[in-house]
Amino acid sequence: MLGVAHRERLSVVQAYRFALDLTPRQERAVLAHAGAARVAHNWALARVKAVMDQRAAERTYGTPDEHLTPTIGWSLPALHRAWNAVKADVAPWWAECSKEAFNTGLDALARALTNWSDSRSGKRAGRRVGFPRFKSRRRSTPSVRFTTGAIRVEPDRRHVVLPRLGRLKLHESARKLARRLEAGTARILSATVRRGGGRWYVSFTCAVQRDAGVPARPDATVGVDLGVTHLAALSTGEVEPNPRHLDTAARRMRRLARRMSRGVGPDRRTGRRGSKRWKRARVRLGRAHARVAHLRRDGLHKLTTRLAAEYGTIVVEDLNVAGMLANRRLARRIADAGFAELRRQLAYKTGWSGGRLVVADRWYPSSKTCSGCGAVKTKLALSERTYTCTTCGLVLDRDVNAARNLAALAVTVAGSGPETRNGRGADRKTRPRGLVAVKRQPGTAKAANTGTVPPQGRTSNHELTYAS
Ligand SMILES: [Zn+2]
Repeated sequence: MLGVAHRERLSVVQAYRFALDLTPRQERAVLAHAGAARVAHNWALARVKAVMDQRAAERTYGTPDEHLTPTIGWSLPALHRAWNAVKADVAPWWAECSKEAFNTGLDALARALTNWSDSRSGKRAGRRVGFPRFKSRRRSTPSVRFTTGAIRVEPDRRHVVLPRLGRLKLHESARKLARRLEAGTARILSATVRRGGGRWYVSFTCAVQRDAGVPARPDATVGVDLGVTHLAALSTGEVEPNPRHLDTAARRMRRLARRMSRGVGPDRRTGRRGSKRWKRARVRLGRAHARVAHLRRDGLHKLTTRLAAEYGTIVVEDLNVAGMLANRRLARRIADAGFAELRRQLAYKTGWSGGRLVVADRWYPSSKTCSGCGAVKTKLALSERTYTCTTCGLVLDRDVNAARNLAALAVTVAGSGPETRNGRGADRKTRPRGLVAVKRQPGTAKAANTGTVPPQGRTSNHELTYAS
């Protein structure tokens, strides 16, 4: 096309999730499949444990290694072989369920075992991963994944077809996915049916071809600070309000949580089961939680789409997620949960739009620093909603001030060479590439600079480095 620059195509893995309206019969069929997944998982786990225990016992008798009970493979094909050999005895009803159901359970176990051994050997970073545990019928989330067979969206975009389960009605239109499937820019890799927040969902994992975008203002930078009373504050001075109905939903959630804590819950020591009222309150609370999460995620999606389409550089703060979960204040917890979501969405959306995401480290005092003169306050109570600078007299909304400091942080980033660009691609399990501020070793900062920040936002005890 004339006047339109050649656009790069990106191949990304993207999920589309839709709520389902299952009939009671379909729900029973899904639960049977989820149950089959659990049976296969638990059987294979018991087998793995038995072999491990047997070998450990034999070692204590001094049995030489070559005479120990042979190990069984932990890979998915090995678990499959073991399961297929015994399924007729362990699960005589196996033919009633799709083989994909057993595959769901065995695959989950294979991955859990790999994660555990990688974590133990230090190959896997992050928190220690425990040994896989048995899945309980009461506590585990029912879910089944299909990777082969008839998986499609019906032409009316209101129904989907899955192997064995047949034609399932969607609660919402699947037009976004259907359009891509019809245009040939998406291919379904797998479909997972899962219950969450008192509802059934189907999510399609797809290989999607996307046009690489270009932000409307590639040289513009925006800082984003997530709020509690509002959704977010931007360095441009805009304060993004919370989505509609979020406050009402959050109020309802608090009320239900209160009711539940007063009810007669289960007691492990006495073996008491929870009362009917308590169970009912728990279901309602689960639904209310899901609604609050959905409303907030929806608001974040609208915000992040808009930001990624407009700005070349977006700066957010890195927060201590483990520390945040310990926070007991509900409003704060909701905001914190939204924070991880904001970063996740921005990471892949800047990847799609060709923008850049900069993550400031969690020691960067974005709230306590004056965005006008760079003075740093030693204390700033959470209740202070307005930032008042005693040095230069600046008076600004607390969160807008923080957002401005974050935006200023990106200015110190040298140029916009390829290495400072956010890596393209949807898989964001690793840390987003780009710049992060890291704590400098103590003693390297000049004493005279301590406590002040130059206007560019480079603090005395911070410097910017590339995250790999
Ligand atoms: Zn100031």
